[in-house]
Amino acid sequence: MMNIKDFDIQFELGSGTYSTVYYGKNNKTGEVVALKEMKEFRENCGFAQTTARELKILQQLKHQNIVRLYGVTTSEKYCKGEGNIFLIFEYMPHDLQSLLYSTSTTSLLSVGQLKGYMKQLLIGIRYLHSIGIVHRDLKPSNLLINNEGYLKIADFGLARPITYRECNYNVITLNYRPPELLLGCTLYGSEIDMWSIGCIIFECFIKRPPFQATTEAETLSQIYSICGSPNPNIASQYKFWKNLMPNQFYPNRLNDFLNQCQCNQNLSILLQNLLNVNPLERFSADKALHSSFFTSYPFPFFPWQMVKFQSTLETHIISMSPATPIDSPPLIQFV
Ligand code: ADP
Ligand code: MG
Repeated sequence: MMNIKDFDIQFELGSGTYSTVYYGKNNKTGEVVALKEMKEFRENCGFAQTTARELKILQQLKHQNIVRLYGVTTSEKYCKGEGNIFLIFEYMPHDLQSLLYSTSTTSLLSVGQLKGYMKQLLIGIRYLHSIGIVHRDLKPSNLLINNEGYLKIADFGLARPITYRECNYNVITLNYRPPELLLGCTLYGSEIDMWSIGCIIFECFIKRPPFQATTEAETLSQIYSICGSPNPNIASQYKFWKNLMPNQFYPNRLNDFLNQCQCNQNLSILLQNLLNVNPLERFSADKALHSSFFTSYPFPFFPWQMVKFQSTLETHIISMSPATPIDSPPLIQFV
């Protein structure tokens, strides 16, 4: 087991509801890592159930498009009921959210580069689903990107094995949540992640989430008006159907919407199949990877073709430590 004393924790990288993530260095090897400190409620000395589940899943995962877990450690007084657990990950300097929305990077994301990232996302998810795990929180801020041109899926805090037993419908960040979960469906599998991926691919090209609302009802009405009414034969079994069903029949208007956004035909075909309100008809990751979107011009970039971005944090570190000689790379490297 790794020891927390082996790491020099330098500053915070980000934080969510359940964790704070720090940038740190391994004192012995000099290797840079991300340390995720779990904010958890513990009874006795045991791990909280949520941490145990996240850890158990992460330990099974080995794939180039999934963030790598190096190990786990606790702060020194952990067994006295103080301190926390730290998950130690490979450090990833960017995430898709910040690249999409920061003014210095957004214009550098060509169609080929975005297609390359989406292809890697689908390859990572195809692997995850093939070993029977559903992520349940896919969104741009959970997709990390490094300077080798790789996208890696992170944040397995809500992930769970696919069982087709009753599960919580209250998962996935609202803007990326499929209609069946908004309607209270509790029997689901990998298809819920595929809706989120449809939203993410759409967002890459229109530079905003396609459905943006603050309540379940509002999100659903946006989905109905663009993707059409769900089939009542299927949807009437969901818990909230009676309260949240559409008040009229809505046709599928996704193609018109995509044309307004000047999206090309291959992208439209893919999105029609991912943003399908019927979960049974939604594309799997493998089907999506075989769609014409990925086999047509402009072709998805390979990792080595991607434009690289220097991390703002590293710029900060470089400027903070003038005594250390560093071969600072140019701000942006074009390959
Ligand atoms: P939470 O469950 O709290 O959302 P995440 O695993 O998503 O936890 O981490 C929160 C944030 O920390 C991420 O959105 C990202 O900005 C940053 N982060 C997480 N893992 C890494 C990593 N391996 N390298 C760099 N930054 C990371
Ligand atoms: Mg997160």
